[in-house]
Amino acid sequence: KTALVTGVSGFIAQHITDQLLKQGYRVRGTARSTTKYAALTDHFTSIYGKERFEIVEVKDLEDHGAFDEAVKAQDLIFHVASPLPKEGLDPYQGFINPAVNGTLSLLNAAHLYGSASRVVLTSSFAAMRDEPRPADYVYSEKDWNESSLRSVKEQQKGQGIPKAYSASKSEAEKAAWKFMKEKQPRFDLACINPVFVFGPPLLRIEREDDIRFSIRILYSHINGELTSVNQQPNNFVDVRDVARAHVVAATEPRAAGQRFLLSAGAFSSARIAEIIRKRFPNLTKVPTGDPADKLFCNADGSKATEILDIDYIGLEESVTDTIDALKHMVMDQ
Ligand code: NDP
Repeated sequence: KTALVTGVSGFIAQHITDQLLKQGYRVRGTARSTTKYAALTDHFTSIYGKERFEIVEVKDLEDHGAFDEAVKAQDLIFHVASPLPKEGLDPYQGFINPAVNGTLSLLNAAHLYGSASRVVLTSSFAAMRDEPRPADYVYSEKDWNESSLRSVKEQQKGQGIPKAYSASKSEAEKAAWKFMKEKQPRFDLACINPVFVFGPPLLRIEREDDIRFSIRILYSHINGELTSVNQQPNNFVDVRDVARAHVVAATEPRAAGQRFLLSAGAFSSARIAEIIRKRFPNLTKVPTGDPADKLFCNADGSKATEILDIDYIGLEESVTDTIDALKHMVMDQ
């Protein structure tokens, strides 16, 4: 059994790869550089053997025929690579174009040159969350984000990066479903739509730059960056559940043609700080503040429990395991 994982250098993709290798798959990953991610190759091949894992270079998601070679002879395909929120990029060139064109390029390659039975696309809760909605609205798989692209087009002041990222995710997922409808390929599609992803990185972090987007939120609670906390609720899911949902969705018959919102519940910075203070009393730069009793969660992750058998890891375990994996970055040596 073979599987292709795009953007294998990423936080989520590394966990998907790990779970696939544990299940006996032979994995081909794509990355922007093979040399930069040699440590990842060493990690997987030292455990599973040289024939079980390789990285092929796909420098740019938008290169013509970027995935034409990579998709060949792969039974399953996971398209994970996409730009994460970052300052200073043009909404189209930095986010929307690579996300949409990369997805279409991958699907087209799978259609023309591949033999995979299913493609799993890493979409996002950002492709569902829309505005305006009532404050007590609970999102599910029926929801689509229509407002972010509108905002990007109107170039509303101060709505640059989050809107551009959200628009890239909603437009990429829409483009994927449209492709499926129009081209009717041999393979089917499943989409995974996670909220903020916490959890320990697969490899030991050596440099701050390697702390990827969503766990930077947790890191900011221990490195002195965050000086006060609030009760603002947001939703989280653990990376190990996200990876598992991808892997199960790739073969579960009932996942074909479906999207899955992944959410384990709500967090606030006050709740995170409380967990860290309790579990890591030696960390000295954790902000203080009392957390609210109950936080409102506006994302319903129950379909993934029902169909993909995801029994979500809770906030305390997820935060504890993440901080355990990051704490050496702030402790005196
Ligand atoms: P990472 O930044 O760790 O991984 C992103 C991957 O995509 C990396 O391999 C990165 O390559 C690659 N990539 C990014 N931009 C480009 C580009 N322009 N061209 C080629 N490759 C690119 O993030 P995550 O693992 O967190 O995210 C993976 C997926 O999950 C994304 O699709 C993201 O939208 C989605 N997601 C993430 C959530 C989260 O909270 N983390 C929540 C919901 C969805 P390189 O390593 O070289 O930078």
